[in-house]
Order: sequence, then C-alpha cells, then structure tokens
Amino acid sequence: MSYFSHLECGYCDEIYEKNKIWNLCTKCGKPLLAHYDIDSAKSDFEKESLKDREETLWRYKEMLPVQDEKFRLSLGEGFTPLIKTERLSKNIGFENLFIKEEGVNPTNSFKARGLCMAISRAYELGVKEVSIPSAGNAAGAMSAYASLAGMKSFVFMPKDVPQPFISECKALGAEVTLIDGLITDCGKIAKEGVEKFGRFDVSTLKEPYRIEGKKTMGYEVAEQMNWELPDVIIYPTGGGTGLIGMWKAFDEMEKLGWINSKRPRMVTVQSTGCAPMVRAFNENTEFAEPWQNAKTVADGLRVPAAVGDFLILRALRESNGTAVQVTDEELMEGANLIGRTEGIFVSPEGGASLSAFKKLREQNWIIEGEKVILFNTGSGHKYMHLWK
Ligand SMILES: *Cc1c(COP(=O)(O)O)cnc(C)c1O
Repeated sequence: MSYFSHLECGYCDEIYEKNKIWNLCTKCGKPLLAHYDIDSAKSDFEKESLKDREETLWRYKEMLPVQDEKFRLSLGEGFTPLIKTERLSKNIGFENLFIKEEGVNPTNSFKARGLCMAISRAYELGVKEVSIPSAGNAAGAMSAYASLAGMKSFVFMPKDVPQPFISECKALGAEVTLIDGLITDCGKIAKEGVEKFGRFDVSTLKEPYRIEGKKTMGYEVAEQMNWELPDVIIYPTGGGTGLIGMWKAFDEMEKLGWINSKRPRMVTVQSTGCAPMVRAFNENTEFAEPWQNAKTVADGLRVPAAVGDFLILRALRESNGTAVQVTDEELMEGANLIGRTEGIFVSPEGGASLSAFKKLREQNWIIEGEKVILFNTGSGHKYMHLWK
C-alpha cells in the first residue's frame, strides 16, 4: 500500500487534496510536492522488507503516490547499477568514485523514472491524453508510458532536435509536432492544446509526480551503499527534478529511521552555454534569472528557466554543496574518458559529471578518501551526431 497523504506547495505551503488532478499551485504558481503519512509508514515499512522485492523503482511503492496496484505501469525502470569505477579511478587517481548508471533505463535515460510515475498517476486519475514540450529524453519517456497506459500522447519539439529523439517518439506512438522555434515556443503551442482539448501537461515540475519517480534514485543510492550516503553527489542539472527528488528522499528516509542525519554535499553541474543555476548559486539569490541564448550539445542541460529553481538552490545550500559549469568541450572529454576506461557509452550530460568532479578535486573541494557518486543520466546512443 501507499502512505501518500496529500500535496503541498513547495513554496507557500498551501495544501491540496491528493485525489484530484493538479498542475502548479493555484495560489503562487510554484510546484506541488507529495507528502506521506510517515508516522504510520515508520511502523509498517521496514527496509529489511526490500530484500526480495522486484528490481524496479516500484520496490519503494509505500513511499510512492500510486494507490492501486493495477495502475503501476512498468517497463523495468529504476534499480540501476551503482558501479564502483576501477580503471577510471586509477586514471584520475581517486579511490572511491562511483557511477550511477541511468542509461540502462527504458528509453535510455532517467526520464523514465519521472514519466513512469507521472503517467501511472495520471492513469489512476483517469487522464486520457497527455502533452509535453520537450527537446529530448522526456518526450520519449512520456510516449512509452502513455502507450503502455493506452493514452494518447502529444509531443512538441523544436525542429532542430536530433533525429533519434523524434524517431523514438514516433515509434512509441506519439503525435509529434515540430516547431520552428525554441523550447519556449513549443511550450506556448503545447499550452494551447492543453487549454483547448483538456490534455494533461506533464512538463517538468508542472505536475507533482515526476519528482516522486526521480526521488527513487535517492532511495536506491542509500540501499546500494548499505544505508550510508556518500559524501558528494554530482548531478547534471536541467530542471533539477532528480536533485530535488533525492534531497526529498533523504529527508523521508531519515524520518523512516532508515538513515542518520548525514547528507551528501549536492553538486549541480551545467554547461557554460546554459548555466542559470550556477549563476544564481554564486550570486546567492533565491531564484534564477532566465538564461539568454541557451546553447549546449547536452540537450538535457538546455533549460534556461527552471520552475523549481528555488528548490534546487535550497538543496545545494542546505547540503553545503555547490554549482559548477563546464564547457561543452570539457563535458565531451569527460564522456570519452568514461567510455575509454569503464566501457560505458554515456550521454554528454553524464560526461559533465566527470568534468565537474575533476574541477572540484583540483580545487580540493573534494578530498582524498571521500565517496563520490557521478550521475550518468542517459546513454550516448541518442547523441550519435556528437561522435561523427
Ligand atoms: C533531462 C535530462 C537531464 C536533466 O535532468 P533534470 O532532472 O531535469 O535536471 C540530464 N541528463 C539527461 C540525459 C536528461 O535527459
């Protein structure tokens, strides 16, 4: 069973009933977060019970929002490998370096986690049509789970998106509209369909459940490290769902009595071509100014304005973390080094994690003996054009 109790605005704390369809807070326009009856969960849900469960994110179903088992869609998402690097570790002379390998998820990226949860929950609430403006992996993941649920899906993409992302959505049954413009233009056109045809918008943090899917990365990291969190987590950040989600998961697990109060320092990495979170972190502001003329080969990092900016910045600061920017050249070098040493074909975003690590190690922000997890958020297979 699920201990999901209600939704609460992440900014103004307004409370929302769980069994209705919501997008953003109707008071302040900020994202809604799922809350659980952790006091009850604490006495019934023990971490020892996880041992024999299925190797997907549904192993944490008590702390996930889907109520009825028959709406839990699955393509085998989650419970991805946490790899202790050997050759990479030797190459850079640092002992405890791990890669959380999200490229093996359905549709080849960790977007599967978020969209699995958003679509399952929409399915449970009776949604028939879903829509997303996207420049990459989110659209493919949405298309997959929508088809699995028998829903219609609508994708709005800039027409210069690399072909594999478009092909994937088409193969997975979505109606794809290519737009001569930026992702913000796609957002506007998608919104017309939402208003006119009552489609449900599953854009990042505009509905409350993608974050619940992504938070399972936090549960997994804890479980795979035997309930002792690492010292540092490096996360390639676009909309920040995973970072916010993991930070939320750590809090939930402490309340469940599964971990102590020790937290990793959370690190955001972005490309110099689009680094609104890095700028806001350094300027010590609560929100991030939109980034003009965003440009990077790492499509997942090309998010000029994040709806959950204040939640990302909050997690970075509360954790004593930081934010780093790397050039596209550096992130590709990172991707190639992981490929050459560990045999993993990582996405450029995954490469960015390694280049950020190198910078932080040089500055002695990360010290010898610490345990560090790099997130590879997707596989390189949809970015073939970068290795011509
Ligand atoms: C979407 C995406 C990201 C950014 O994820 P957020 O949770 O939105 O910050 C990073 N890498 C890849 C491969 C992505 O598809």
